[in-house]
Amino acid sequence: MRALTVDAHGGLDQLRFRRDVPAPEIALPDDVRIRVHAAALNRLDLWVIQGVPGVRISPGWILGSDCAGVVDAVGPAVTSVGIGDRVTVNPGVSDRTCEYCRTGDNPLCLRYGILGEHRPGTLADFVVVPAANVLTIPSDVPFSTAAAFPLATLSAWRMLMSRAKVRESDQVLIRGIGGGVALAALLIAKSLGARVWVTSGSDAKLDRARVLGADELLNHRTEDVAKEVRARTAKRGVDVVIDCVGEATWASSLGSLGKRGRLVTCGGTSGHMVQTDVRRLFWNQWTIMGSTMGSDEEFALIVDQLRKGRLYPVIDSEFPLEQGHKAFERLHSGEQFGKIVVTVAES
Ligand SMILES: [Zn+2]
Repeated sequence: MRALTVDAHGGLDQLRFRRDVPAPEIALPDDVRIRVHAAALNRLDLWVIQGVPGVRISPGWILGSDCAGVVDAVGPAVTSVGIGDRVTVNPGVSDRTCEYCRTGDNPLCLRYGILGEHRPGTLADFVVVPAANVLTIPSDVPFSTAAAFPLATLSAWRMLMSRAKVRESDQVLIRGIGGGVALAALLIAKSLGARVWVTSGSDAKLDRARVLGADELLNHRTEDVAKEVRARTAKRGVDVVIDCVGEATWASSLGSLGKRGRLVTCGGTSGHMVQTDVRRLFWNQWTIMGSTMGSDEEFALIVDQLRKGRLYPVIDSEFPLEQGHKAFERLHSGEQFGKIVVTVAES
């Protein structure tokens, strides 16, 4: 089969499009094989190419976490989907038996793995996953939409709904609008009726975010974000900050946070070491939360939204699998607004 692979860690020059990769076979009774129609890129793919501490890849490693397609084969124990079903895939694979899975916290699974990072990925003609990771989508949801949807929307859903528990009365500040998680967070926060602030270094991205419903726009290159938030809220600050940028934004994210504020992070694209003044943390009674991916229950909830035509991801661009390196160059540029989709099969 065709696949976008890397043989070793390094830069984008490690990317290799191949036509000779063996197609994965059904190995376990509850496995499902999917003929991939569309896949989508995530920041995680760049981390995998670069190298993630503790994660080893073997030569010919297939990248990609997100995909949508058609069920092509099923193991004997599979009853939830059948051959020919159009599906989208939860990129996080858990054992569903450990103490964390049993209490509905699949992302904390002791044997958690993400497609493309710990298991062969989705940038290929076929991928094999457990049936519990697969949910059907109606015929009116395009494969590109269903492929761009899972990782970013699942991550954002858990951050806003399960961790920060955003309410209609909340003011939510989202850092770095244009990224998949940030955009999904914007759509979710607006669907809840919250007032949403977004930041970017690009006025063009801010303008596009306004069209999607963002209420307050802040260009972090030309404005002091924390100072501006304080000024526009009569010193009150916001209730929730969604920050996946890390080092570069941490101080101003906390500086924007009002009393009882909640900050949720799911990554540190600018750097991983941050500083927090503990006096401000306790005095303002802030809550700083980590979040990653989402549970089976959360995946079912977001796919239910997708089936109803809600929370459709913003798609920046689409590239055929053969031109996967161009898709990665786009991702690496940071110029994208929304998801970068890789089309694999004709829809
Ligand atoms: Zn588990």
